[in-house]
Order: sequence, then C-alpha cells, then structure tokens
Amino acid sequence: MEDNCIFCKIARGDIPSATLYEDETLRVILDLGPASKGHALIIPKTHAANLFELPDEIVEKVFVAAKRIATQLKEGLHADGLNLVQNNGAAAGQTVDHFHIHLIPRYENDMVGITWKPGNLSEADKEDILKLFR
Ligand code: 5GP
Ligand code: ZN
Repeated sequence: MEDNCIFCKIARGDIPSATLYEDETLRVILDLGPASKGHALIIPKTHAANLFELPDEIVEKVFVAAKRIATQLKEGLHADGLNLVQNNGAAAGQTVDHFHIHLIPRYENDMVGITWKPGNLSEADKEDILKLFR
C-alpha cells in the first residue's frame, strides 16, 4: 500500500467505488471517465506501478479476471467487441501509477479511438528486434 496512491485506496475499499467484483487479490470498478458504456478497470490490491513491477502470480490472476469480466460485460451489455488496454509509463498514456487493466466494451460505430496509423516494418528494425530474442 502506497500512502498517496488513489488506486491503492480504491482497491482496498478506503475510497468507495462502483465495484463489479472483488476478491482478496483485486477489485474491478467502473471507470469514472468512461470511453464507452461499461468501461471498467481491474486493479490489484497490492501496489505495483506497472506491468514490469507486477509479480507473476498477480499477473495470472488479473488476466484470468479480465477474461471473465470481459465476457460478462460483453454479453450483459450486448457489446459488439471489447478492448483490453493496459498502459505502462506516461509515454504510453498511463496517468495513474498503479497497475490497472482497462476493459472497454465496443459498439458498432462508436467513436472510441484506440487506434494508430500503421507504419512499415523496416529490415533494420526487424533485425534489431529479432536479435534481442535470439
Ligand atoms: P491510465 O491513463 O492511467 O491508463 O488510466 C487511468 C484511468 O483511471 C482513467 O481512465 C481515469 O478515468 C480513471 N480514474 C482516475 N481516477 C479515478 C477514480 O478516482 N475513480 C475511478 N473509478 N476511475 C478513475
Ligand atoms: Zn497503489
């Protein structure tokens, strides 16, 4: 628990939230600034700033929960699709430095913008990256 972390306080119930699910490891809440109807956040109760700091046993639990809650949201809200979004670092759009997964139900012709302009994979980049994994 970090003293000044809003998601620690929400996850542990010190600050009330619209909770869809809770267990000993995590809490699932509605986002206060939803991208679409049903936008929810999976927040582990243990503080970790981002994916890189999250212990593997919690990684497993949050992604298993993500699948289950995503299914319930998609079916219950009759969504046409659903994005999982998980930002790490300010450069990636992270604004709250406590790991969380966004569940964003998607509806045909909604104007939610989770997109990018495709580039081209250069031979140089491809070689650089493949080298890292050899
Ligand atoms: P990030 O940009 O860090 O991936 O996402 C942070 C998310 O947390 C945003 O979608 C924002 O709307 C949501 N958020 C920030 N503060 C609160 C809060 O106090 N309560 C709830 N329910 N959501 C919050
Ligand atoms: Zn925290």
